[in-house]
Amino acid sequence: MKTDIHVCWTIDCESTQPGIENPNLGSRATKGFAELISSAKLKATLFVIPSDAVVYSALLCELAGEDFEIGLHYHPQAAGYDDFCGAYTADQQRKMYSEAIKLFSDTLGFAPKTFRMGSGSANDATFPVMAELGFESCSDSFPGRNMTNLKSNWLGAPLHVHYAHPANRLLEGGLDLVEVPITTDPDSMMWSGKHPQDLRVELFDAKNQRYMIDKILGREKQRPQSVKAIVTLTHNLFEYDDAGDFRTQTAKQMIADFAELADKHEINLIPATIGDIAAAYRKTVPLAT
Ligand SMILES: [Zn+2]
Repeated sequence: MKTDIHVCWTIDCESTQPGIENPNLGSRATKGFAELISSAKLKATLFVIPSDAVVYSALLCELAGEDFEIGLHYHPQAAGYDDFCGAYTADQQRKMYSEAIKLFSDTLGFAPKTFRMGSGSANDATFPVMAELGFESCSDSFPGRNMTNLKSNWLGAPLHVHYAHPANRLLEGGLDLVEVPITTDPDSMMWSGKHPQDLRVELFDAKNQRYMIDKILGREKQRPQSVKAIVTLTHNLFEYDDAGDFRTQTAKQMIADFAELADKHEINLIPATIGDIAAAYRKTVPLAT
């Protein structure tokens, strides 16, 4: 019998960030990426910073639905603050995310239910604040990452889907908030040993991605937890509307390799959004109170 594993493609939409400021590319890339996902019959979660939502709200409203979930992405630097999320107290984070939720909701007409902070930056206040603000799920952690300059420290964080913990971002359980970690391979550290290899499209060429996909499928198949998930990522800063673009071709090849290698491992890949994965998890694992 085949093993079920959810696969969620995620894209962080942040083309209006200071230093990038290319919303034309951002909207084209978002549209192109969505077409790529649709034509492969996959699903995706788009994590969008509020200032991007303002620029191409019609596109996002058109996409929002069963196949595309629109969540909130947050880079403090794009909202007038000068540090990463993990540098702020609970009160400060509550204020920052509340402002972002308001701008997002006023622009798109619905409140975000899933969240990803910028640069994977968090501290122990982040998860409880997100739960308090009404988020149901998030995809914040990079298990194994240890980049103190970004306040992004996830050494020893769980690799599997779990309820977040009210007091410690590396522990699990207790909060009514499902964390779906970004898929990483902590055995393969890069960037001077500070960042684990992940499945971001722009990290490598397709040949290298294939080795990682093969390894991760084999690893996840053996996972003892009943709800299994693989989360890829990219950014809307590449020409996904151009079929000849290197990143578009890499993404297409990754999609093809996922399908081929899943067959080899006898895995049934279930296209999912982060919200779908959180819902499947909640159904299977009751929150202990
Ligand atoms: Zn980002």
